Amino acid sequence: MAKKTLDDMNFKNQRVLVRVDFNVPMAKDGSGKIMDDARIRAALPTINYLMDQGAKVILLSHLGRPKGEPSEAFSLAPVASHLSSLLGQEVLFAASDRVVDDEVAKKLAGLEAGHVALLQNTRFRAEEKKNDPDFAKDLAALGDLFVNDAFGTCHRAHASNVGLASLLPSCLGRLVQKEVEVMGKALDNPARPFVAILGGAKVSDKIGVIENLLDKVDTILIGGGMAYTFLKSQGLEIGTSLLEEDKIDLARDLLKQAREKGVQFLLPLDGVIADQVAEGQETKVVKIDQIPSDKMSLDIGPETAKLFAEAVKDAGTVVWNGPMGVFEMEDFAQGTFAVAKALAECPGVTIVGGGDSASAVEKAGYKDKITHVSTGGGASLEFLEGKVLPGIAAISDR
Ligand code: ADP
Ligand code: MG
Repeated sequence: MAKKTLDDMNFKNQRVLVRVDFNVPMAKDGSGKIMDDARIRAALPTINYLMDQGAKVILLSHLGRPKGEPSEAFSLAPVASHLSSLLGQEVLFAASDRVVDDEVAKKLAGLEAGHVALLQNTRFRAEEKKNDPDFAKDLAALGDLFVNDAFGTCHRAHASNVGLASLLPSCLGRLVQKEVEVMGKALDNPARPFVAILGGAKVSDKIGVIENLLDKVDTILIGGGMAYTFLKSQGLEIGTSLLEEDKIDLARDLLKQAREKGVQFLLPLDGVIADQVAEGQETKVVKIDQIPSDKMSLDIGPETAKLFAEAVKDAGTVVWNGPMGVFEMEDFAQGTFAVAKALAECPGVTIVGGGDSASAVEKAGYKDKITHVSTGGGASLEFLEGKVLPGIAAISDR
């Protein structure tokens, strides 16, 4: 069922609680320096819209893992001041170690229409992750309406998303709306051919995604660490490459299912081998059936990159999750970058899900040429698994 969006609500003079994802990387030195403000900027379309509509905007977010108690290192104070400069308007930082209390309520009472306030890190309270009804009730008392614009936590039922949505009239913010529309269409009604590229470290992390996509796609390309369990299941020597012994049978079965469903399932043709996962070693490109028993393959080779790029070239829809190699190291990043380039050049709808995949695309410099790079690592995976995300399910239906 379609969920309400900002366009379905009247915000004038309303106190609007907005769950945003301001979980930004902070400098390790405790200076409060924000290393990457992409997530804050991603929330601006929703915040600006609400300001223009004359709402009293009250933002909630978590930051890091403060273990359910107050911790100066995880204060949202630096975010409040950075947001003030982005908006060109002072943001009221209504901070309390309790997140919500009488003092906070008093401060918010002075908030004018068209202005913005930010509460303290919701994870300063252990009740947040437990979706505690009393904590949710205290938060809900601060507002009239609720907007969920934090896709990254939609796969979790917490007080600041599911709790609030169950207590107040609610809708999706612009960011979550886009996530749901683009990825939802790819899964329900994709332009064809529909190609999925899956990689990353482990088969076990991606079983749900592979199984769900097997019923929807025309082609699946497998790279990354998990490719070697598939190759092993076909009787190949994979040396000391990443292997999940207990997933070999499953891998063989998934390949069989693909054949039965008429899904083209492509595995690497070549790999980049080395002694260990480390930079600055001697590396070599070998055919995939030529991996020596004492070497590991840490990236797809150029022939595979070409094969995958060819498969992506005329795709109507491409979903990519999981790097093709150990892209964190330059020696093993070429395969991942080649796939990122292929997506950038594909005229179809291109979607990247997964935290490491998103950062690989960014690192490769192709982020702007991809239709949609999901802002939620775990949430995008669960979406691609076909799961219902509680943070979205709890929002009012249209
Ligand atoms: P995402 O976050 O996009 O879902 P994953 O977390 O599943 O992706 O996988 C990313 C990790 O997989 C990276 O840290 C990368 O180094 C690792 N990886 C990719 N290919 C290999 C490989 N051949 N051997 C070992 N690790 C790999
Ligand atoms: Mg990851």
